[in-house]
This record gives sequence, C-alpha cells and structure tokens, in this order.
Amino acid sequence: MAEAPPIRESMDYDVVIVGGGPAGLAAAIRLKQLDMEISVCVLEKGSEIGAHILSGAVLDPKALNELIPDWKDKGAPLDTPVSDDRFCFFTKGGAFAIAHFLFPPLMSNRGNYIVSLSTLCKWLGQQAEALGVEIYPGFPAHDLIVEDGAVKGVITGDLGVAKDGHRKDSYTPGMELRGKYTLFAEGARGSLSKILGAKFGLQEGRQPQKFGIGLKELWELPAGQHKKGLVLHGMGWPLDNETGGGLFMYHWGDNFCSVGFVVHLNYKNPWLDPFGEFQRAKTHPAIAKILTGGKRIGYGARAITEGGFQSVPKLSFPGGVLIGCAAGFVNLPRIKGSHNAMKTGMLAAEAAAAALKAGRAGDMLSDYDAAYAKSWVARDLKLVRNAKPLWSKLGTLLALPFIGLDLWTNSLFGLSLFGTLGHGEPDFATLRPAKVSPKIAYPRPDGHLTFDRLSSVFLSSTNHEEDQPVHLVLKDPAIPISLNLPEYAEPAQRYCPAGVYEVIQESSGPRFQINAQNCVHCKTCDIKDPSQNINWVTPEGGGGPNYANM
Ligand SMILES: Cc1cc2nc3c(=O)[nH]c(=O)nc-3n(C[C@H](O)[C@H](O)[C@H](O)COP(=O)(O)OP(=O)(O)OC[C@H]3O[C@@H](n4cnc5c(N)ncnc54)[C@H](O)[C@@H]3O)c2cc1C
Ligand code: SF4
Repeated sequence: MAEAPPIRESMDYDVVIVGGGPAGLAAAIRLKQLDMEISVCVLEKGSEIGAHILSGAVLDPKALNELIPDWKDKGAPLDTPVSDDRFCFFTKGGAFAIAHFLFPPLMSNRGNYIVSLSTLCKWLGQQAEALGVEIYPGFPAHDLIVEDGAVKGVITGDLGVAKDGHRKDSYTPGMELRGKYTLFAEGARGSLSKILGAKFGLQEGRQPQKFGIGLKELWELPAGQHKKGLVLHGMGWPLDNETGGGLFMYHWGDNFCSVGFVVHLNYKNPWLDPFGEFQRAKTHPAIAKILTGGKRIGYGARAITEGGFQSVPKLSFPGGVLIGCAAGFVNLPRIKGSHNAMKTGMLAAEAAAAALKAGRAGDMLSDYDAAYAKSWVARDLKLVRNAKPLWSKLGTLLALPFIGLDLWTNSLFGLSLFGTLGHGEPDFATLRPAKVSPKIAYPRPDGHLTFDRLSSVFLSSTNHEEDQPVHLVLKDPAIPISLNLPEYAEPAQRYCPAGVYEVIQESSGPRFQINAQNCVHCKTCDIKDPSQNINWVTPEGGGGPNYANM
C-alpha cells in the first residue's frame, strides 16, 4: 500500500538562506545589520557550520572589511598574513620560479590572509547568531516550494527513510521553510540551484559554467620546514600540457600546511585520476622536501567554479536569487572566490531588505542583478575573463604568456586583444574515448607522502546513515556499464576522490557499485559524468564530511 503523503510542519521567515558558507552567512549578517526586525534562517546540510567547507584558502579580506570592519577586535580567525608569495612552473624534476612582475598587481597576495575557511565560517556563524539569525545545521534543503511560478521557500530532507524507500520507525518528515525571499548559497553545483537554473532558464545566453575539482590535505610540519605566511602556487608537472590545473601550498598557524591540487574538469583523457595526480604532485622534490617528516591530518575535496564573468547566470528569479559559488564568482587566475561569495551575499541582502521595506514579497530582486553588474566583483571578474578560455584552448605552456599579456592589457587599458572568449563545450562533453587515450600509470602510495583513497576519506570523518536511499541517483542505472564502461572505461572510478564508484567484475559480468557512505559532497560526478546520468541530491541531514581546519 502506498504511504500517505507526509504532513509537514511549516515555518515562515522573511528570508530563508540555503547554505551556511561565506555567501549565505554574509547575507544573513547583512540582513540583520540593515534591519534587526527581518527574520532570517540559514539551513546547512553539514552537521555544524563549517563541516562541509573546504577551500585553500588565501582570503582577500575586502568583503569582510565591508561586512564587519572591526573583525580583528571581534576575534576573526585571520592570524596568518601572507608574507611570501611564490609562483612556479614544475617540470618532472625541476621548478622554475615565475617572476611577479610578469603579472599585474591584481594577482598579488599582499594584504591577504591564509585561513581555514571552515573555521572562518564557524566564526561568521557565531556573528550571525549574535544578531538573531536562526541557524539550522544538519538540515539540508531537499526540495523547492514553487507556487504560482515563484519560489516560496524550501523543504528540508525527510529523516528515517530506509534504503528501499520505506519509512522507518524513526521517520520524521522534512519541514517547510517558507520565505518572502529565498537566497540560494549552496556553493559550486548546488543541487537546488541546478534545478532553478533549468526551471528559470538562468544560463540562457551565457557560457556554460566550468568547474575544477580541488583536492586538499592538511599537514602538520616539523618546525624547520614550516614557513608561516608562505603561499606557493605551481603549474605544469604532473599534468600534461592539455590538462589545466595546479598545486597550492599555504603555510599557516603554528605548524599547519594546506596542500592541494586542482584539476580542471574539462580534461580529456578518461584515464586521468585527479586523486592520483595530486598524490604524484606531492612527490616533486620541491614539495616532498617540505612535507617529508610531517603528518597528514586532514583530507577532502570540493568542486570549484571556473567559468567566471561569461558564465555568471541570471541571478534573480521570482522569489529568490543565487549568491556566491552557486552562481560561480571564482576569480580563476587568483584562485579566489570567498570574498566574491561574501560580497554577492551582501548585495543580495541589500536588495532583499529594500524590497521587504517596500512591502514586497516573492517577486524578482532585479536590483541585485544590477548591483552585481556595478560591483567590484563584476569588475574584477571581467579583467580576468579570458584566462580560463585561453588555458583551455592553448594548453598550459602557450597559454601562460597570453594570459599574462591579457591580464596586463585589461588591467592597464581595460581592454583585451581577444574580446571575450567563449568556453566551448561543457565539462561533461570533453572526454575522448578510452581506446584512443593513453593510459596513465600512477605509482603505489608509500603511506608517508602519498596515500590511497580510503585512508584519505577516513581523515575527512565522513559519515552517512547507511540505511537511507542512495543520494547519487542514476537516471538510467544501465548506463555506467552499457555506455560509460566501453566508451570511457567508466571514469567515475577515477574522478571520484572518495572511491564511491567501483566496477566489480563478477562471473555474470561487470557490475557498477555505489559506496554512497563515502561521498564527501564534492559534486564532481554530477558535473563530469559524460552521460549526465548522475544526479547528486542531498542525503539525510548531517551526513557527509566533518571537516576541521579545512
Ligand atoms: C580546493 C579549493 C581551493 C580554493 N581556494 C580558495 C582560496 O585560496 N581563496 C578563496 O578566496 N577561494 C578559494 N576557493 C573558492 C572558495 O572556497 C569558494 O569561492 C567559496 O567557498 C564559495 O562560498 P559559498 O558560500 O558560495 O559556497 P560554499 O563555501 O561551498 O558553501 C556552501 C555551503 O552550503 C551548504 N549547502 C549546499 N547545498 C545545501 C543544501 N541544499 N541545503 C543546505 N545546505 C547546503 C554546504 O554544505 C556549504 O556549507 C577554493 C575552492 C576550492 C574547492
Ligand atoms: S560521489 Fe560524487 S560528490 Fe560524492 S565524493 Fe564522489 S564525485 Fe564527489
């Protein structure tokens, strides 16, 4: 017998915010700063604020200065100013420093801070709560409430549903959180933002959004190897010339070192394994000498938006807006998006507060689109708009001088010799067939400098209730074996940084297995699956990684 539709409790707010990252929390704080009477709630799928936040991170404090000018007095966790900023091109055994004068001042990290973004978000959450914002960690927004063509809020995920879909004794239906306006701050490839994009045609007339996968480890270094304030960026080896990406290494705190690797998700070779590339990158002599003798204490991965200026979607739709990386405001050559996420959250908050003051509800916050277009976020993104397309079209070596030239002409004269380049095809469409692509041999992990996936996932403290529906939903369960395996050697086995996807060889033939409990919510599968067959939906509340200091 079919189960009766759930009876849901409902709560009303002026503004509902989906996602407790820098964008969502900055929006919440700004709303309360503008009018303490505005009721605001923030939903966060992680078990606590910051639990799902993974970033580099070098923070440009520009937006924080505007939001909370006395952040130093209030104890914001920005303790490591950048003191040394290096950029290298790696070959297999060598490293060539690239002089700073080759890039315009916009690339400089002077005045920036090395932070843990998850720790900063915890602090922002405390600031928001002190202003009266209601924060609900462990509550993923699972569905949209759409009435009369407008978004009226969201429904949180049901609790206590078994793997086969039946309701367990612990079943608790999700709640309706209704808002006069709903701000979507889900970060890169938000599950509801994706639906909103399709429903309201937000990407029409824009270039496709582009992404990278960022993998990161947190290390504790021996005293002599830790150089507090050092920022190191590298490109080149181990990636080949046609694959974009690179390494970052930030020394902060007393002995912390954040080391990570980004692979652009428009890579072509289905044999490529971003996790394997990251592990290899750490064996470069220039990196290995810093990490050797240290201890790895954290691991995680997250998609990063890379489309920039020409991929920013229409931001508003009836009843809501996209803010932060849900819309994709990362400045790719600077590898920075947190300040833009915060600023766009603040701009949306200002538009929402003005609308509420005027007695409006559920309409378009078009003032936010206009404010973004006039903001320093749009100005900065425009200056660097051709970096990603040049990199994709020319390959790393040839692109570097052209990107340098383009950044200079944009910075000095406000113009580009290239106009505004397009990105070409979306990331899921770039793979070549496996049979015409060279296989890549990755060395075995040594357990000191390089590791396997499962011991890595262990360090992310990822946890999901086992008896729940799989949150990686295959539109067609046959495709991984019938199409992806013969054509692309099922790349999910390699691009997933958490070992969620496996092809098991059985006597009856290959079988596709999904180990959903390992998922670190990076969203790469939703982006890169060549058949666009994997739909990432929110799992039961609180599930996922539990990042600390990431
Ligand atoms: C490897 C890497 C390195 C980076 N390095 C830097 C750097 O050095 N400097 C810099 O400025 N930027 C950096 N960035 C980019 C920066 O992290 C992002 O621009 C920034 O985090 C975007 O903030 P956001 O609030 O939009 O999204 P996020 O930080 O992704 O936060 C989104 C939040 O929403 C929650 N959420 C998502 N969906 C739901 C839902 N349906 N219901 C409830 N909650 C939900 C998530 O759990 C998360 O807490 C880096 C990114 C990566 C991946
Ligand atoms: S299953 Fe998808 S979202 Fe989860 S870790 Fe793997 S690639 Fe990332």
